[in-house]
Amino acid sequence: MGALLQIENLSVSYRRGGATIQAVDAVDLEVPAATMLGLVGESGCGKSTLARAIMGVLPGNARIAGGRVELAGEELVPSTEARRRERLWREISFVPQTAMNALDPVYRLRDQMREVLCSRGGLSAAASDARTAELFRAVGLDPSRLMDFPHQFSGGMRQRAAIALALALNPKLIIADEPVTALDVIVQRQVLDTIRMLGRDLGLSAIVVTHDISVVAYLCTLTAVMYGGRIVESGTTAELVGSPAHPYTMGLMNASPDLKARIDTLVPIEGAPPDLSAPPPGCRFAARCPFVLPACRELSPDIIEISTGHKVACHRAGEAPALRELAGKVAT
Ligand code: ATP
Ligand code: MG
Repeated sequence: MGALLQIENLSVSYRRGGATIQAVDAVDLEVPAATMLGLVGESGCGKSTLARAIMGVLPGNARIAGGRVELAGEELVPSTEARRRERLWREISFVPQTAMNALDPVYRLRDQMREVLCSRGGLSAAASDARTAELFRAVGLDPSRLMDFPHQFSGGMRQRAAIALALALNPKLIIADEPVTALDVIVQRQVLDTIRMLGRDLGLSAIVVTHDISVVAYLCTLTAVMYGGRIVESGTTAELVGSPAHPYTMGLMNASPDLKARIDTLVPIEGAPPDLSAPPPGCRFAARCPFVLPACRELSPDIIEISTGHKVACHRAGEAPALRELAGKVAT
């Protein structure tokens, strides 16, 4: 049996002006059933493009340049528009960064839930309302608030309502793109606790997109690190946090206040990500890598498995323990 979600050699580009932006470049990724995978990387590395390609909601100037995506053995990409609509909420659902992108301000929460539960799920109005109350309880909302409009909810409550909507029809896969980024820190933690509990209790399969590796460390058993449109490292979160093998992943750890023991030792990653309309020929991280070799600027590294399930795309992957040691010294 293959993984629940299988992405093979997926490339997505945008046209803007006269340029072609290679936002996702030959990505391979798998999400097993009942697993939350964190997709992490800094702004512009292609996380949302990858997420949108999986959901089939890319903007008009985007093009799938190659590759395929399968969910539970069924082809998602390429797919017809009719099939994509049929799948949304029932098979794949999403939690956006801002709940208002999923919730309509002019409808009561009850009616928005009915829209999905009755129209898509075939439930009666009464059964929908009962299911809504159950979902509200599960995400930590008071079921007596289901007649409210979204604006009567706080940001954290709206995000919880968006999660309830995503869970409504028990989809196979949930894609959450920066689900807590817009919330203040205390509320972030509360919503993360809820997602973590739901993930465990319901055996959710999800991709959690975030620029914050500490969010992934808290929620996800698997992690994929993206840089410049490519996956540069993937494996179990425990392995990646404990023994990062790509210098970029090491940099993300050193720059994360929650994963670094002492806050005064935080080291930002110097420099800027590559221009994806004219990416450099070799490793895309070469210009910023503290361990760069001449070959790194010329040859793009293949992604290789360095231990079971732990993959890394770095010419110096074999030296990872020594590089970690050095990276730690840089950081302290
Ligand atoms: P962020 O953390 O800021 O959300 P991201 O990792 O989600 O970033 P994407 O939004 O996928 O990154 O963007 C990847 C690349 O594609 C960037 O270079 C971005 O400028 C470009 N891009 C994204 N959307 C479009 C678009 N609609 N048209 C043209 N280029 C786009
Ligand atoms: Mg994004």
